[in-house]
Amino acid sequence: MAFNLWHNALELFDNVSKKINLDEVAHKRLSKCVRELTVSIPVKLDNGGFEVFTGYRVQHNIHRGPSKGGIRFHPDVTLDEVKALAMLMTWKCAVVGIPYGGAKGGVICDPAKMSIGEIEKLARRYTSEIITIIGPEKDIPAPDMNTNPQVMAWIMDTYSMDKGYVVPGVVTGKPISIGGSQGREEATGRGVMYTTLNTLKHFNMDIEHTSVVIQGYGNVGKATAELLYKEGCKIVGVGDVYGSICNPHGLDITKLSKHWADTGSVIKYKDADSVENKDLLELECDVLIPAALEGQIREDNAEKIKAKIIIEAANGPVTPGADNILRQKNICVVPDILANAGGVTVSYFEWVQGLQSYFWSKREVNLKLRDIITKAFYDVLAISEKENVDMRMASYMLAVGRVAEAVKIRGLYP
Ligand code: GLU
Repeated sequence: MAFNLWHNALELFDNVSKKINLDEVAHKRLSKCVRELTVSIPVKLDNGGFEVFTGYRVQHNIHRGPSKGGIRFHPDVTLDEVKALAMLMTWKCAVVGIPYGGAKGGVICDPAKMSIGEIEKLARRYTSEIITIIGPEKDIPAPDMNTNPQVMAWIMDTYSMDKGYVVPGVVTGKPISIGGSQGREEATGRGVMYTTLNTLKHFNMDIEHTSVVIQGYGNVGKATAELLYKEGCKIVGVGDVYGSICNPHGLDITKLSKHWADTGSVIKYKDADSVENKDLLELECDVLIPAALEGQIREDNAEKIKAKIIIEAANGPVTPGADNILRQKNICVVPDILANAGGVTVSYFEWVQGLQSYFWSKREVNLKLRDIITKAFYDVLAISEKENVDMRMASYMLAVGRVAEAVKIRGLYP
């Protein structure tokens, strides 16, 4: 069957529902997204041409607070993908205990083939098309694949122009100069780093003797590599869309990031061998961190994974079928909703700071992030040990349980 992230998300939700005996009402309600908006986005192109792009904004749930989640610009975006990612956001916010439901947005486009001016027009018109359902108390977008602080600034500006006053809380991941938070850009990578260190500690593994492979060198993969390198881990392989590289003695991440800044890719870095992208995941290592797209570890390659631990920095990088194989191989998978929750956690800090117009230091942000991610890790670990389930099932049991409680206590309107 073709890969479908929404079907995978529902399968996982059904499994956890059975495990926690979720009542039928909550199961029925949480199996659906509360709002799914599809919009057409007309844009005049630089060459005089004209294109109508398709975009989505989906809110999966709003029981624990306004919905929250990023916006991605990518040629492969589909409504089912956006629905699944919105559902993941609901569980992610619940597992770390921040007061949001889940949402996601996406526009089918290829930003690599667009000028900055075209991307701005696209972002502004998309914002205008979804403006009735977003807002600081309703639904708060943020960066995701191929969107960045500049795109968030355009969203904030478009929304604020429409209202007639500045509304910083409508979006997170903004530049610092317009109300962004210290530490937001690297927050997802920093959360992945804390989760990795917590996992190593749990297995009594020594940081200095830990080898790590990271798939993806974008916002998340790069920050993760830099932070884990600083902590003393040996990064033995990394890859991006252009190709992958490895060095069993460890890569000098400071030099590699400079090479990446100069050339736009990790390939052709001189102190490393090149490897095929598909082989990167199968390299000898202790920790494998997929930090790119979903569906990277599937039934056809899961068997060949050699890592002892997988930390899901991407959303949905392991398919349910692959998950079963990894479990049989005794590989510990720390799931996305826990491992990559650092981004949305600092988004929450940014939203709170913006609402109060009172801003925190980077140190304060990072310490609060560490506390939240670490508490969530040990909450999940305790369930995993008590119930004898893997970390994914334990995270979902915690998250779905929290959302179900909110559904139940709020009751049904009318
Ligand atoms: N796009 C990020 C994620 O998937 C961050 C979302 C947010 O900050 O709202 O978690």
